[in-house]
Amino acid sequence: MAKILVLGAGIAGHTASALLKKKLGKKHEVIVVTPNAYYHWIPSNIWVGIGRMTVDQVRFRLDQRYKKAGIEYKQAKAVSFHPEGDHETEKGFVTIEYTGQNRVGEVEKVTYDFLINATGPKLNFEATEGLGPGKFTESVCSYDHAHEAWKKLQEAYKKMEAGLPQKFLIGTGHPTATCQGAAFEYIMNVAYEIKKRKLSHLADIKWITNEYEVGDFGMGGAYVKRGGYITSTKIFAESFLKESGITWIKRAGVTKVESGKVHYERLDGSFGEETFDFAMLIPAFSGPGFTAFNKNGENITEVLFAPNGFMKVDADYTAKPFEQWKASDWPNTYQNPAYENIFAAGIAFAPPHSISKPMKSPNGTPIFPAPPRTGMPSGVIGKIVAENIIEWIKSGKPQMKHRASMAKMGAACIISAGYGLIGGAAATMTVSPIVQDWDKYPEYGRDINYTMGEAGLAGHWLKYFMHYMFLHKAKGYPFWWLLPE
Ligand SMILES: Cc1cc2nc3c(=O)[nH]c(=O)nc-3n(C[C@H](O)[C@H](O)[C@H](O)COP(=O)(O)OP(=O)(O)OC[C@H]3O[C@@H](n4cnc5c(N)ncnc54)[C@H](O)[C@@H]3O)c2cc1C
Repeated sequence: MAKILVLGAGIAGHTASALLKKKLGKKHEVIVVTPNAYYHWIPSNIWVGIGRMTVDQVRFRLDQRYKKAGIEYKQAKAVSFHPEGDHETEKGFVTIEYTGQNRVGEVEKVTYDFLINATGPKLNFEATEGLGPGKFTESVCSYDHAHEAWKKLQEAYKKMEAGLPQKFLIGTGHPTATCQGAAFEYIMNVAYEIKKRKLSHLADIKWITNEYEVGDFGMGGAYVKRGGYITSTKIFAESFLKESGITWIKRAGVTKVESGKVHYERLDGSFGEETFDFAMLIPAFSGPGFTAFNKNGENITEVLFAPNGFMKVDADYTAKPFEQWKASDWPNTYQNPAYENIFAAGIAFAPPHSISKPMKSPNGTPIFPAPPRTGMPSGVIGKIVAENIIEWIKSGKPQMKHRASMAKMGAACIISAGYGLIGGAAATMTVSPIVQDWDKYPEYGRDINYTMGEAGLAGHWLKYFMHYMFLHKAKGYPFWWLLPE
C-alpha cells in the first residue's frame, strides 16, 4: 500500500488528492494536510469584495467532502520537511501542527511514500510596512479579507451618498507583487458598482501598478487577436480603464503605507505619494517559510526550497540574463531534483525566473511583477503530478509521461465586471503559451491564433458559469471528473 501525502487543499492540492483517490481506490492511502476547515474558490472573492456573494457561497467544509471520498484529512499546517526520515523514522515525513479537529497546537510526524506540496503562496503583507487588513489597506486574497474589503467599501459608498468625494486606490502593494489580473478585476467591479449607484461624479478611482505598462499582467504583456486585428494587452487594458473613468500610475513599487497614504518608488528612481480613502493592494507572495532537514537533523532547506521559499522542481534555475531565457527553463513534471518522490504543484513550485522583463530603479529597487500562476495551470499541474504518481504506483516505476510546462500550456483569463446574467461585461483573454516561446513564435512570442482578447457579455456569463462548475467539481458532485481544470 502506498501512502500519498498532499499538503494544501487549494486548486492544485484538491485537484491532485481527488484524482489520486478516485484512481487508486481503497488499496492506497491519500492524506490531506491543510490548515483551513474549508475549500475556497478564490476567483469568486472578487464578488465577495463587492458584496455580490457571501463568504459561504465561495467555500464549503472539507471534512464532509474528504470523508465521502475516503481521503484522510488533517486540519493542520505543515511545518518542516524530513525527506530522509530521522534516526527514529525510516521513511520521509513532514512535521505538522494541528489548527483544528480539537487538537490545536498538537505536533505530529506524517510519513509518506509520495509527497505533493501544494501549499500556495504566503500573503507576505509584512514585506510592505503598513500594508494589509488590520493595518491601512484591504485585500481580496482570502474570503475573510474580501468580506472585510466589502465592509470598508460600504463605508465609502455611504460617504459618497452623503455627498463626500472618495478616492479609491487599487493595484499592487509591493514592488514585485503579482496577481495583477485579480486586482484589475476588482477595480473594474468597484468602478461598475459605483457607476450603478450613480456616484461616479464623487469617485476618484486609481490603478497603481508595478507593471512597466498597464496590461503586462506579470506575463510580459501579450499581443492578442481582437476582432480580426492584432493588438497589445496594453491597449486592451488601457481602453478598459479609460472607459470606466479610471486613471493609473504605472512603474510604481509601493514601499510603505500610512493611514490614507501610500509611498512608492518609480522605476525612474523618483518617489511619489498617493492619498486614498479606500485601498485594495495585493501583497508580495512568498513560500510559507518551511524548513527541511536530512536524516542527521542538518538543515537542508536550500536543497528543497528556493530563496523565495517556493519548492525547487525540474526547472532550470541557472541565473542568466533576460535575453537568454528559454521556454525550456520552465518545469515539466514538478518533481524535486534531489528527492524523486517529492513534487510541488500550483503556486508552491519555484519558477525559474519571472515572465515579465526584470527592471530595477537607479536606486537598485526591483520594480516588476513576479510570475503569476493562475488557477487553470495550478489545476493542470495538480492533475499531471497526480497522474504520474498513479502510474508510478501502478507500474512500480517512474514513467513521468504527463507533462505540463507553462511554456507549452495555454490559459484563459476572464476579467469580468458586474454581476448577474444581464448586467456587466467582461474582457476575456486566452494566451498560448503562458510563458513566451520566442524560438517557436519569433514574431509575438506566442501562438497568435490561440492568443485572443474579446470584450462582451459572453465572457461575463462564462465567469459566472465557472464559479458553479468549479465548485461542483471541487465538491465531488456527480461526474466531477469529467469537468476540466
Ligand atoms: C482574488 C483572486 C482572484 C483570482 N482570480 C483568478 C481567476 O479569475 N482565474 C484564475 O485562473 N486564477 C485566479 N486567481 C489565482 C488562483 O486563485 C490561484 O492560481 C490558485 O488559487 C492557486 O492554487 P494553489 O492550489 O496553488 O494555491 P491556493 O489555492 O492558495 O491553495 C493553497 C492551499 O495550501 C494551504 N496551505 C497553506 N499553508 C499551508 C501549510 N503550511 N501546510 C499545509 N497547507 C497549507 C492553504 O490553506 C490552501 O488550502 C485569483 C487569485 C486571487 C487572489
